[in-house]
Amino acid sequence: MAARILNGTEIGRQIQDELRQEIEELKQAGVTPGLAAVLVGESPASHIYVRNKIRACEALGLYSERLAPPASITTEELIAEIETLNQRPEIDGILVQLPLPPQVEAQRVLQAVDPAKDVDGFHPVNVGALVANRPGLRPCTPAGVMELLRRNGIELKGAQAVVIGRSDIVGKPLALLLLHQHATVTVCHSRTRDLPGVARTADILVAAMGRAAYVTPDFVRPSATVIDVGINRVEDAATAEKLFARHPARLEEFRKKGSALVGDVHPDVVEVAGALTPVPGGVGPLTIAMLMANTVQAARQRRGTGVRAPVAR
Ligand code: NAP
Repeated sequence: MAARILNGTEIGRQIQDELRQEIEELKQAGVTPGLAAVLVGESPASHIYVRNKIRACEALGLYSERLAPPASITTEELIAEIETLNQRPEIDGILVQLPLPPQVEAQRVLQAVDPAKDVDGFHPVNVGALVANRPGLRPCTPAGVMELLRRNGIELKGAQAVVIGRSDIVGKPLALLLLHQHATVTVCHSRTRDLPGVARTADILVAAMGRAAYVTPDFVRPSATVIDVGINRVEDAATAEKLFARHPARLEEFRKKGSALVGDVHPDVVEVAGALTPVPGGVGPLTIAMLMANTVQAARQRRGTGVRAPVAR
């Protein structure tokens, strides 16, 4: 039987509807949460990401602004820009779009962001709060995965969770969030021995590796929940024909567009898994929803408007 599809677009929309109401209440209390996005240089992918984040702010009635310093900026100059944003009371969230140009020391820049405004959750103060399971701003993609699991009623307590990928942005924070919800967590990476064997022990399998369709059906215990964080573009027709051999609608779409997005999970996994997030339309939409949620949370905490239970915890 084919897996239940966990629809991230739908859940992202639900979260945004809830936030819209909350923002309306905040505005009536005289607070408009504000987000500043810092986009250095001309990377087309980064431009699209930032544009989508600003549009999401506009759709929800948040204040937003985009700073676009030139690609030649130095670490010191960028830190000075961040410090100005730290001082501005109407800015509740600061996000620095990664990657930064090679001459900029990314770690120093991320550390310059006021932890109370760190809506990406990358500052060491927020990383420490995550490790210790104390309140703080959580990274958006892992928080989105948790929200997707929670809203689909997937039991985490006592479950075996296997996370493939140990990046600071996705794999590592997600492993901690799962652990805090009482899953038994295994984290895998490029040196893991017998990756398919370890993956098959999972009730909940997360792929966050950046390798198109790497997780094939032999990685998946029948009926497991599979969360596909990867976003990879396939442009080669021979690859697409192999990947989508059993998925004619997707192959047709590839032929029309000349490219397709695929996750780290092979499309055939739908025949083995119990539940599966699609790509596109799975984890992706939740990342932006959680950025909006973090901006609202930061505004409440900074401006003393009462701390509600944040959406994702
Ligand atoms: P990353 O920093 O490149 O980390 C990839 C991780 O996967 C590393 O820990 C790496 O192991 C591991 N890995 C790579 N190849 C492997 C293999 N063959 N076997 C086992 N482990 C392997 O990537 P990331 O930033 O975490 O992103 C992961 C994916 O998620 C990417 O496709 C990215 O585009 C996507 N993403 C999606 C969203 C979203 O909103 N949906 C947000 C962020 C990222 P080592 O540590 O040993 O090198």
